[in-house]
Amino acid sequence: MEREWSFSTKLLHNEWKVDRHTGAVSVPIQHASTFHQFDFDSFGKYDYSRSGNPTREALEETIAALEGGVRGFAFASGMAAISTAFLLLSRGDHVLVTEDVYGGTYRMITEVLTRFGIEHTFVDMTDLNAVAENIRPNTKVIYMETPSNPLLKVTDIQGVVKLAKAHGCLTFLDNTFMTPALQRPLDLGVDIVLHSATKFLAGHSDVVAGLAVVKDEELGKELYKLQNAFGAVLGVQDAWLVLRGLKTLHVRLKQSSESAAAIAQYLACHPKVEEVYYPGLSHHPGHDIQRHQADGFGAVLSFRLADEEAARTFVRNVRLPVFAVSLGAVESILSHPAKMSHAAMPKDERLRRGITDGLLRLSVGIEDVNDLIADFEQALSFVQERPSVSTP
Ligand SMILES: *Cc1c(COP(=O)(O)O)cnc(C)c1O
Repeated sequence: MEREWSFSTKLLHNEWKVDRHTGAVSVPIQHASTFHQFDFDSFGKYDYSRSGNPTREALEETIAALEGGVRGFAFASGMAAISTAFLLLSRGDHVLVTEDVYGGTYRMITEVLTRFGIEHTFVDMTDLNAVAENIRPNTKVIYMETPSNPLLKVTDIQGVVKLAKAHGCLTFLDNTFMTPALQRPLDLGVDIVLHSATKFLAGHSDVVAGLAVVKDEELGKELYKLQNAFGAVLGVQDAWLVLRGLKTLHVRLKQSSESAAAIAQYLACHPKVEEVYYPGLSHHPGHDIQRHQADGFGAVLSFRLADEEAARTFVRNVRLPVFAVSLGAVESILSHPAKMSHAAMPKDERLRRGITDGLLRLSVGIEDVNDLIADFEQALSFVQERPSVSTP
């Protein structure tokens, strides 16, 4: 029996390892927009690059194989992948969405889909009863994102899939934070896996890209039709950058996740840090589910300082991480959700969701973890001690 390679080996030793025509050890970038047809009556595999391109196809087949799906699709951004998947919906349909969904997805659902008569309800997806109670007869899609952003809440994927199947709904899952290196939602029954490949998959803060994967041929045909119809395909240079980034996905995530775990422990013990949100910490409410449904806890964590002033002081003094939106790169990225990803959310709504002014999100890169901790130690030393509540 042929041995099935492990994930890290599959990242390199796949069908695209060597170009069949030249032996090139890198996928050729095929710039052609159109393809000559050698026969008047029977056309070749490719005709026009929006409909199919060999470089994009290499990426699409690679992500399909890594996620355990039958068909993959590459888009111009994560939002293009997500928005195209939503085109499966029609007027009068309803979508049930996790309440801490990515900001761009929130905008698409609340400001665009509504104009096309597609309804939505946001629920706390960590609560399966809430999910069950909010499924309507016209619910077509249940949309998950786990662990969520920025509080790393964990959804029980199989629990939601079971409810969805009982009600004839499709399930979509944004797997950006985990990647197939750590979590394979299709194996857990999810219908469409979505990615911002801009993040961990490409991994170097140098490309914007999106991916979708399905494991059902029919759904694959429908999504292919929408990809071709809507036309938000990924360009070939960008497809190549994602393919190159993917080769090191496993080693990058391994190092970043180990460092994230160490940093989460360090921060959890620091007197100036009020709370650490990381599913790898044993007191995290989603710890057991995460351990059960994924192969790790990932490289993103959030932590809460006393207030905005404390967060500002920390950001001003920290030297290694870049202070930016985005995540999932070789360099550590620190962001302030209240002013960045969640700035558009009304303040009381934001606070209700636990996204306080002192909250910072850290996407751990591949720097030496001791350097990162030393940097955080010196930056935290500038943060004022929260005035202790005086006892009478
Ligand atoms: C960044 C991100 C997206 C959007 O992807 P783009 O490539 O920026 O369009 C979607 N979901 C999650 C979880 C993200 O982090």
